[in-house]
Amino acid sequence: MKTIILKFGGTSVGSIERIKKVSQIIYQYKKKGNKVVVVSSAMSGVTNDLIKKSKLISKDFERAEYDVLVSTGEQAACALIAGRLNHLGLKARSWMSWQIPILTDGPYSNARINKIISKQLLKYLNSGGIPIITGFQGINNLSRLTTIGRSGSDASAIMIAKNLNASECIIYTDVEGIYTTDPRFHKRAKKINQIEYDEILEMASLGSKVMQPNSVQDAKLNNIDVIVKSSFVNKPGTLITKSFKKKDFGNQIITGISSTKNDVKITIAGVKDKPGVAAYIFEPLSKNLINVDMVVQNISLNGKETDLTFTIKSEDLKRTEKIIRENKNIFYKKLSFDKNLAKISIIGVGMITTPGTTYRMFKALASKKINIMVISTSEIKISVLISSKFIKKAIAVLHKEFNLD
Ligand code: ADP
Ligand code: ASP
Ligand code: MG
Repeated sequence: MKTIILKFGGTSVGSIERIKKVSQIIYQYKKKGNKVVVVSSAMSGVTNDLIKKSKLISKDFERAEYDVLVSTGEQAACALIAGRLNHLGLKARSWMSWQIPILTDGPYSNARINKIISKQLLKYLNSGGIPIITGFQGINNLSRLTTIGRSGSDASAIMIAKNLNASECIIYTDVEGIYTTDPRFHKRAKKINQIEYDEILEMASLGSKVMQPNSVQDAKLNNIDVIVKSSFVNKPGTLITKSFKKKDFGNQIITGISSTKNDVKITIAGVKDKPGVAAYIFEPLSKNLINVDMVVQNISLNGKETDLTFTIKSEDLKRTEKIIRENKNIFYKKLSFDKNLAKISIIGVGMITTPGTTYRMFKALASKKINIMVISTSEIKISVLISSKFIKKAIAVLHKEFNLD
């Protein structure tokens, strides 16, 4: 008998009608004789709404209470699914993370699942029941509720698949699979049949919202195949798996294009060019959990001073500015900010063996008069920072240039 994990995202359980629809999907898997485990997100919009409420109560909402609050959406969705399955005559019940329990490490709001004690869960599964488990939440060693980062239900599903040694882990969402770029943003995006962990890991980390980055890392580390597909239409989705030999490899260097917006570029001009300066700048930012992304240091012309440029998200700008201005350990001539920027990235393992990809990317952007402000590369991706007003144009020209249309 196969064990199958079915994870439903917010839109898939976004209304009573949708919950009835996904209950039918669950019903079909069960009728085929599988052991079925369900992981659900909150109904779409619910988590955002709870976050807004927390801000109205206090700008400094206590972190542990914040996690209790924002994880409640999953509880409601799970009870509704279980209720519908019971209505259809199936044995099903909801499981909160603390009832299993799902144990986590790390800070509130950004914990990671490190252990699942599945004895009770297995007993229930073996008795023919369908457990409906809250995604996104866990408990820590103080027995307090934790959450594992926005979109964390993907990671919950993958860790449960690992723990139960499941044959399949299917992430049901509102698009037909993973596309070459966000299909809601670029109508020529194409569905990808099969993608490697490393590629989707880069895509997810660089802004493709379809999978949560931590969840892909968990899948990769544990060698779990994941299928991403639609709960709206019954069509084959995308298989996320280990490295494989690609057909049409010669033609396709790039697998996907990701983008982020609301990036801000900060330049600290005229800082001393000596060891330790960069550490002095970035240490307090890191302590305040400010995520620094692209970093460039200019070559010092006089050997004494240099300019340091880096990017952050716009929501962190105020705090970052304050931290830099109050930093007594650094001296500089000028601090400047460039807002409304976007990062566009092309990703593909094909790039490792194909020279000239960088040049093709820059030439394509230049042909549309798109100015590049910062560049960063790794073995399988190239990212550029541009003005956010050019995002759509940039994606379109790169999609075409790399034969993804
Ligand atoms: P869920 O609520 O099911 O977890 P998400 O909103 O987290 O769904 O992820 C699905 C969304 O991801 C899609 O609606 C789509 O707009 C967006 N997306 C971004 N990049 C991609 C991509 N490369 N392929 C597919 N979807 C993408
Ligand atoms: N409900 C949570 C969120 O909106 C977790 C999830 O959907 O996976 O971030
Ligand atoms: Mg999601």
